[in-house]
Amino acid sequence: MSMFGQVYVKDNKYKLKGDFHHLTPNTPIRNADDGWKLLGVTNPRDMTYIHSYGGEAIFFESLSQGKLLATRCDNAGCDTKGTIYIPFRVHCPDCLGKNTLIDLTDIAKKSAKIHTFMVCERSGAFNILDKPIKFINIEFDGVATILMSYLSLGEPKFAMRVVPIFKTNSPTFTILDLSWVPEGTKEDALPEGFSF
Ligand SMILES: [Zn+2]
Repeated sequence: MSMFGQVYVKDNKYKLKGDFHHLTPNTPIRNADDGWKLLGVTNPRDMTYIHSYGGEAIFFESLSQGKLLATRCDNAGCDTKGTIYIPFRVHCPDCLGKNTLIDLTDIAKKSAKIHTFMVCERSGAFNILDKPIKFINIEFDGVATILMSYLSLGEPKFAMRVVPIFKTNSPTFTILDLSWVPEGTKEDALPEGFSF
């Protein structure tokens, strides 16, 4: 088996190691209604996409450390100064200034509530969450925006109090490292790798 492509940055350049493109042999496409004549070929391709997080990298790094970061506009000249954003916004949508990082973990633990939710019995390609997926929209005290995430235990209800959990053991460094459980859930009930 070939090695998955791995990337790090040195001297402000991507340094690549391993295989980023996996070639798989073509197979013929034939017509069953016409003597199995050749119509074409399949071109199987696997590739590793290099996805840069830019200014949002700190958000994903913090999830792996059990912290939920948000941002706030502190520009005195901005009409919406003091507005707190999560999903994480690097820049203020009004003044386009760079937002200040704030740690929202305690506010989330004390005030997160389900704003609305949807339960999906099916999902798109490459989805690895267990089905049915309980997508929840979460509101927080003092936050202007609503966060989309998923409930790992229990059944979602409107205005239900939930608390964040973090995949601190073998994190994926994706948004899946953040999930939610009903307030009062015991630590030993959490999904594998997750902690409060
Ligand atoms: Zn602003």
